[in-house]
Amino acid sequence: MKPSAPLPRHSDLFDASLFENSFVRDLPADPETNDTRRQVMSACYSKVEPTPVASPRLLAYSREMAEILGLSAEALGSQAMADILAGNALAEGMDPYAMCYGGHQFGHWAGQLGDGRAISLGEMVGDSGRWELQLKGAGPTPYSRGADGRAVLRSSVREFLCSEAMFHLGVPTTRALSLCLTGDRVVRDMFYDGRPEQELGAVVCRVAPSFLRFGSYEIFTFRRDVDTLKTLLDYTLRVHFPDIEGAESPTVHTYVEWFREVCRRTARMVAHWQRVGFVHGVMNTDNMSVLGLTIDYGPYGWLDNYDPDWTPNTTDAQGRRYRYGYQPHIAQWNLARLAEAVLPLVNDVKALEQGLADYTEFFAEATRRMMGDKLGFRELVEEDRALLEDLQEVLTGTETDMTIFYRRLAEIPVEAADAAEMSAEDLLAPMSAAYYEEQLDAEAGSKIVDWLRRYVLRAQEDGRSDGERRRQMHAANPKYVLRNYLAQLAIDRADEGDPSLISELLEVMRRPYDEQPEFEKYAEKRPDWARSRPGCSMLSCSS
Ligand code: AMP
Ligand code: MG
Repeated sequence: MKPSAPLPRHSDLFDASLFENSFVRDLPADPETNDTRRQVMSACYSKVEPTPVASPRLLAYSREMAEILGLSAEALGSQAMADILAGNALAEGMDPYAMCYGGHQFGHWAGQLGDGRAISLGEMVGDSGRWELQLKGAGPTPYSRGADGRAVLRSSVREFLCSEAMFHLGVPTTRALSLCLTGDRVVRDMFYDGRPEQELGAVVCRVAPSFLRFGSYEIFTFRRDVDTLKTLLDYTLRVHFPDIEGAESPTVHTYVEWFREVCRRTARMVAHWQRVGFVHGVMNTDNMSVLGLTIDYGPYGWLDNYDPDWTPNTTDAQGRRYRYGYQPHIAQWNLARLAEAVLPLVNDVKALEQGLADYTEFFAEATRRMMGDKLGFRELVEEDRALLEDLQEVLTGTETDMTIFYRRLAEIPVEAADAAEMSAEDLLAPMSAAYYEEQLDAEAGSKIVDWLRRYVLRAQEDGRSDGERRRQMHAANPKYVLRNYLAQLAIDRADEGDPSLISELLEVMRRPYDEQPEFEKYAEKRPDWARSRPGCSMLSCSS
């Protein structure tokens, strides 16, 4: 148990009147307020404060997020702010808590999980909307089970950078305000091989309108606690979905519409993941946001070579449940679990099934638009089906860097070209950066060239200028993504005491669709050394 002395409070960095803290205000609390591990019944959260660390130090922060929250660079540079962002102090108006939730992990109900190392500080409501600030790695809570409530620098750098990179890519996501070192060491067995090592401890302050997950609702249904389920869902509607008809005094119809909205948002989120080549890696229902935001950046990864079967998560290597090509299906499986969770309030299986069917529609429609943009067509039509199917074969037949492939496709001249006349070399030349030269033998090359010829003919049918087509494609196909090996390089350097690459990558990822020639090296495909290095090709859950 932690010492009972409350944390010091600062009054000059945040405007205390902006803290609304609706979650704590409106929902039932665990009557106990210590961090002994326990099953928490009939409550949505437990009041618990962060546990202080040795020496908080701010390593990096997001300018955009700071601006949204009205925090100046000066404020962020202060030691008092580092103290708040690492869990050694609170601001006036904050009311910290850990959320109770459950979840299906790898397809099985896992019971109570909850915020085992995340502590929400409070929700600020202002002109820029509602923003909940949450420290990840802030120390033990009643939900920590056998673990320490802490996070290492390695996983914190990954969460910090990826949250902001995803935001700038236009992918719905939770955000990150800051990354702090704690000055404490944390022991982790990264390879699960019985050889634990000491790593640097860190805390990320992440930010979202809410961190409610599918598992937040599931737990009450599994416990047959329909009263708390209803209280939580009514709260969710009132505070986070005010535009749904009846949100103020929900009926069965309101709940069904809400479920449909979660399906819609989830479909949109996953379509974006597929567009940019993001693989979440651990899509358990406790890691699925009801706001349709990418949440809980753990063993995620980015596709280097296009491979629908790839999963970054070493724990998932056997079943590959969370592989890239299966994410749309798993999202729907998770939505089915959410449907079961709200069934006691809806009592209409058909209506919820309709929501799940709508998910398929939403996803198909989002994908159709997205692929049209990625390929630079006015509109994707039924006749394009074969071209798309063969594209899959082209991308998987030869090791192809997905990001570079789509980006370079925009460089193939279409407007004035006579596709039949274009030489294989002319067609392949803009694409070469996406391939490993030694793998591009005559057979592979001719398949790619065949497809490119068909692509040129199809693009010509739209009758647009190359510039117009390129603009559309460049807005859908990022030049820069947070390649696994780039994040790992930033981690390696930060571990050695030099955090500059974190800031540099953050800078690059702020404009992922721009050419940024000064950062060209960050757009190159994965170097050979990164193919088999942990952190670059496979990620451990240990964090
Ligand atoms: P995750 O796989 O990161 O989504 O975590 C699953 C569950 O384990 C959640 O309830 C987390 O809060 C909890 N958890 C993960 N790491 C830790 C840790 N170091 N200390 C306490 N709880 C943890
Ligand atoms: Mg989680």
